[in-house]
Amino acid sequence: MPASGAPPTIAAIATPPGRGGVGIVRVSGTSLEALIAGVGGAVPVPRMATVTTFRDAAGAPLDQGLALYFPAPNSYTGESVLELHGHGGPAVLRLILARCIELGARIAEPGEFTKRAFLNGKLDLVEAESVADLIDASTSTAARAAARSLTGVFSQQIHAMVEALIELRMYTEATLDFPDEDIEFLRAGDVVAKLSAIRETLAQVLARAATGALLREGLTVVLVGRPNVGKSSLLNALAREEAAIVTPVAGTTRDTVERRVEIAGIPLTIVDTAGLRDTADPVEAIGIERTWAAIERADLVLLLVDARAGADALDAEDQDILARLPPGMARVVVHNKADLARIVPMSALREHGGSARRHVWISANLGDTGSAGIDLLEKEVLAVVGAQAATEDTFLARERHVHALREASGHLAAASTQLASAPPAIELFAEELRDAQRALSAITGEFTADDLLGVIFGRFCIGK
Ligand code: GDP
Repeated sequence: MPASGAPPTIAAIATPPGRGGVGIVRVSGTSLEALIAGVGGAVPVPRMATVTTFRDAAGAPLDQGLALYFPAPNSYTGESVLELHGHGGPAVLRLILARCIELGARIAEPGEFTKRAFLNGKLDLVEAESVADLIDASTSTAARAAARSLTGVFSQQIHAMVEALIELRMYTEATLDFPDEDIEFLRAGDVVAKLSAIRETLAQVLARAATGALLREGLTVVLVGRPNVGKSSLLNALAREEAAIVTPVAGTTRDTVERRVEIAGIPLTIVDTAGLRDTADPVEAIGIERTWAAIERADLVLLLVDARAGADALDAEDQDILARLPPGMARVVVHNKADLARIVPMSALREHGGSARRHVWISANLGDTGSAGIDLLEKEVLAVVGAQAATEDTFLARERHVHALREASGHLAAASTQLASAPPAIELFAEELRDAQRALSAITGEFTADDLLGVIFGRFCIGK
């Protein structure tokens, strides 16, 4: 039994529902000896797989499997953790779990094991979030990037910036104590150069985090084009590496509305507007409304036209769809069937009534032959949404992180302005530095409100 005031012992089935070779019940608490004695008898040697018969209250066997015991603090949660590896059937796992509950544990909430790991200092907030992201990753690039965040690559960069800010703040606060000599102090401390170095690092981290957030959240792309222009061929060409990914998304009434592909590891949801053309059918009305709702949330429009029809080959319906799109939405005009028009794949920036638009010439049905221009199109798509192709140093990030990095960046820009004023406004400068530090520390969880923790850990699966 846990000591009074200690967090309750928690238990959950950690493996996915359904039948499998092995199923795991995981338990975490400050003191597990009594529970272990009740379910399996002897306390296993720490971290050594031990064959154990799991038993009910009357001593009758429930299953035979392996017990693994990680005494505090050397465990995932920082508390004592017990893993019972039984046979992977839902009924037997429920019996083992029920036995743990009988012995004083309660069912864990989603993410509660990881939340305890965070609260016990085993993981910082970025690392804890990347556990969920690794589990949820939909592309292998996203999974790798999440694993990089989990090993602390992102957190280390945040910590380095926070350290540099602290140093600058210490210097600045000291200057505040000697107001007559402040300009001398600042010059001696090379404050301008230090601030600009931090701002430069922050800009790089922000760019990587923005790409990392795209890896996680993906992009929604609207495909506009008349029948036969090559939309399906383009989808297939984009999905070249994982054709199986081009499957209808469950839950839409019309199975042709949304498809998933990936570009440079970034998951793309492609919303096909083909269905918007047959508006005469009243049964389709709901599907059409949904398609529009998806379109309004999109990040980018790909307009497909026939390369043989010249630079502006949009028909009336294409024009209508375009007119209804939010004005700021990024768009690329894709001239398909370049082979038939005898145009070599290329990309160009063209003027359209005062604003510039990206154009790409491709041959969608030549697929991945190298002469199709699909790679050019992929580059344009990433460029118009401000992403880079994911590289070995991309780490998975969330909108929350990007937002906090932007906030910190805003404070550092303001700090720089205060410093440049004559005479330098040292107090305001110090204040901006402090706010920037707070924004950065919120990323790793040093200053984080409880409600935010609830939101973050509530989205985990049970048992993690
Ligand atoms: P959708 O109706 O817009 O989805 O168009 P499809 O992808 O079904 O393509 C219509 C026809 O155009 C098919 O016969 C394709 O093989 C052909 N097609 C698509 N892209 C190209 C291309 O780049 N070059 C050539 N020559 N034919 C293409």
